[in-house]
Amino acid sequence: MAQQIKYPFSHLADVNMPYRDEIAAALLRVLDSGRYIGGPELTEFENTLAAAMHAPHAIGVTNGLDALRLIFRAYLELGRLHPGDEVIVPANTYVASILAVTDNGLTPVFVEPDAVTLNLDTARIEAAVTPRTRAILPVHLYGRACWDKTIADVARQHNLIVVEDNAQAIGAEADCDGLFTSRNTGALGHAGAFSFYPTKNIGALGDGGAVVTHDAELAAAIRAIRNYGSDRQYHNIYKGLNCRLDPMKAAVLTIKLKHLHEENQLRRERAAIYNTEIVNPAVTKPQWLPDNRHVWHQYIVRVDNRDTFRKYLLDNGVETAVHYATPPHRQPCYSEYAGLHLPATDEIARTVVSLPITRTTSLDDARAIAAIINAAPRG
Ligand SMILES: *Cc1c(COP(=O)(O)O)cnc(C)c1O
Repeated sequence: MAQQIKYPFSHLADVNMPYRDEIAAALLRVLDSGRYIGGPELTEFENTLAAAMHAPHAIGVTNGLDALRLIFRAYLELGRLHPGDEVIVPANTYVASILAVTDNGLTPVFVEPDAVTLNLDTARIEAAVTPRTRAILPVHLYGRACWDKTIADVARQHNLIVVEDNAQAIGAEADCDGLFTSRNTGALGHAGAFSFYPTKNIGALGDGGAVVTHDAELAAAIRAIRNYGSDRQYHNIYKGLNCRLDPMKAAVLTIKLKHLHEENQLRRERAAIYNTEIVNPAVTKPQWLPDNRHVWHQYIVRVDNRDTFRKYLLDNGVETAVHYATPPHRQPCYSEYAGLHLPATDEIARTVVSLPITRTTSLDDARAIAAIINAAPRG
């Protein structure tokens, strides 16, 4: 018998409800403006994002994967990366991080995650550096900054380009300095990719993305490549793409960006309840640091018997998700990496469960979910 879902994982309409009137007004404004590509709505969004990330350049693009692809493509066009160059990547990530690397003819070198943070284990980076290593791609997975002094030191010492996948962590901060002037994830290294996929902490009405960078030359190349490769109208300096962010989406994102802190705070409140109230010893909770610069894109617990645990929760009305059951090196499209020995990554993929963390889940719901988890039968 199908169980009624009392605690859904999320409803996106709830997430946008507080901004409903503002969003409706912005959409009408764009409709009436007649300006449906580029223009002031896009510029305002880019300026708002750059200011929020404490970086000089932001470029709105079609989605998060394209943001990453455009960064690597621009480095290739500028001659600062070359086909076949090695990019150090986390083995525990969403497949899009790796797709951007291989799409540009670059070679991913998979590094295992830290068992506590689940992010790239920065202590293992040095050993993965070879004479062909040119870049490193930290992914701030689940909303936690993947950054420390080790990663900054290795990048400087080996002269590596640092491209961040910040799809899941907009608003998160590192607890030590980045390579430039910002501690915001996505602005710690040379260039960062942002996703505004509807479920992300700041979500568009559809796909959306952005690149943030400290590098003016890179920014100019990406601006051109996203627009057919043209630096001015009908003048193409690259064999470019069409990867622009629509003003309709940009106008909505500007509204939501102004509430970035509140949106992340909302997730932190739910995470704090799970952190204090889940006491079932069979459930491993995420690392909790008192400064809490984590933005909790997902609240990930780990359990040994995931199927049983999820079924128990669903039988008790709690919908969960899994991010992700199959790591990139185990995807059919990456059969060339299937033989890699990445036991920490495999173990994470086997045991992770994502609990409801969005506005859809009230604080009382979060307490009820914690109580249900604590009452789970052993075994
Ligand atoms: C969502 C996501 C992407 C891709 O972003 P899209 O906007 O969906 O293309 C890339 N990397 C990570 C880690 C993501 O979570």
